[in-house]
Amino acid sequence: MLSVLDTRVRSVPAQPSARQRHRPLAAVRSRVYLPAFSIVAIAAALVAIGWADHWGGSGFGPSMTGLRLVVIGPTTLAIIGVFLVAERVRPAQRRALVARGHRQDLLFTVFNATLVVPLITALSLSFSEIAQRSAPWVILPRIGTVPRWGAIALVFVAMDFCNWFAHLANHRVRFLWRFHELHHSQEDLNVLSVFRTHPLIHVSYLIALVPGIVLLANGELTTTLLVIYGGIVAFAHSNTNLGFGPLGRIVVSPNFHRIHHKLDGPQDVNLGFALTIWDQLFGLAMFPTPETIRTDTGLPGRPLIVEQAGERPHHLSVFAAQLVAPFRPLGPGGAPRPGTVGGSARSPSPLDRRPWRRLPALGRGQ
Ligand SMILES: [Zn+2]
Ligand SMILES: [Zn+2]
Repeated sequence: MLSVLDTRVRSVPAQPSARQRHRPLAAVRSRVYLPAFSIVAIAAALVAIGWADHWGGSGFGPSMTGLRLVVIGPTTLAIIGVFLVAERVRPAQRRALVARGHRQDLLFTVFNATLVVPLITALSLSFSEIAQRSAPWVILPRIGTVPRWGAIALVFVAMDFCNWFAHLANHRVRFLWRFHELHHSQEDLNVLSVFRTHPLIHVSYLIALVPGIVLLANGELTTTLLVIYGGIVAFAHSNTNLGFGPLGRIVVSPNFHRIHHKLDGPQDVNLGFALTIWDQLFGLAMFPTPETIRTDTGLPGRPLIVEQAGERPHHLSVFAAQLVAPFRPLGPGGAPRPGTVGGSARSPSPLDRRPWRRLPALGRGQ
């Protein structure tokens, strides 16, 4: 009886252990960082839906031309030219006229002007169309008592808050941080570093379109206002020693944003794009001091390949590696914890005490 049972037991094919079953997944994980593909999936879905829907009737060509005007139009180029001069006249850090970081960021600028603009246009048109179709009630009717300029100012401020929030998520959620890391890797911070971003990170900033959709019937941001907004964000990255005096308490200055890029500091502070008020409201503002003005920028330990490494710069291969980096597997110790890259302590923020502050937990879980 025992031998029969024994034979029967032996005849049942051996079930793979849980470890064996997960081996293919582990093999994939050892080669790529899977959560990064969720951003690819969202971007691909948005582009496909927008394409199939003919971009909701909005002309793709004119929308792209409008965005290109904002990103790299003649006015934007003239403004950037002025900022480049300001960097030489009043530099925060003395450096060569054309440092390695400048050349690399120029590559990112060309990349943005050519290939990224169509991608952002596609994502934005598709996102707006889906939002308007699935939740038409979010679009407020025309409010006669609110002047048009008041609605536009509201969109401007609310858009800046959404950008601040998405930026916070970029620091607190690990898979977003892997895309945002590239922006923080710049050791020669300069005005063109505003373009040093991974193209797929724009998916996380789509929420900034929501205020414009809600107030669509009351007023729209003009190209001029968007150029001004972009100009403030670009200037914040310039290697210029400027704090804007009392205005620097409200508007993000180069000295304020440099602290966000500080090599040995907590980088989840000073997240504001144009206004400092969100950081002040949530206890994440650190105002410039004489020590922070000339501080070094970048990521400690260079977790991401940078053009400053090596005897000779290999701009194109470094550029390709920087774009692929978010998909590479985490190192043995995992990626640096998002947000607190430098590890320096900061005073507790009200965000730390709020029950809805779930982002750090999410980040650690990724
Ligand atoms: Zn950041
Ligand atoms: Zn920045």
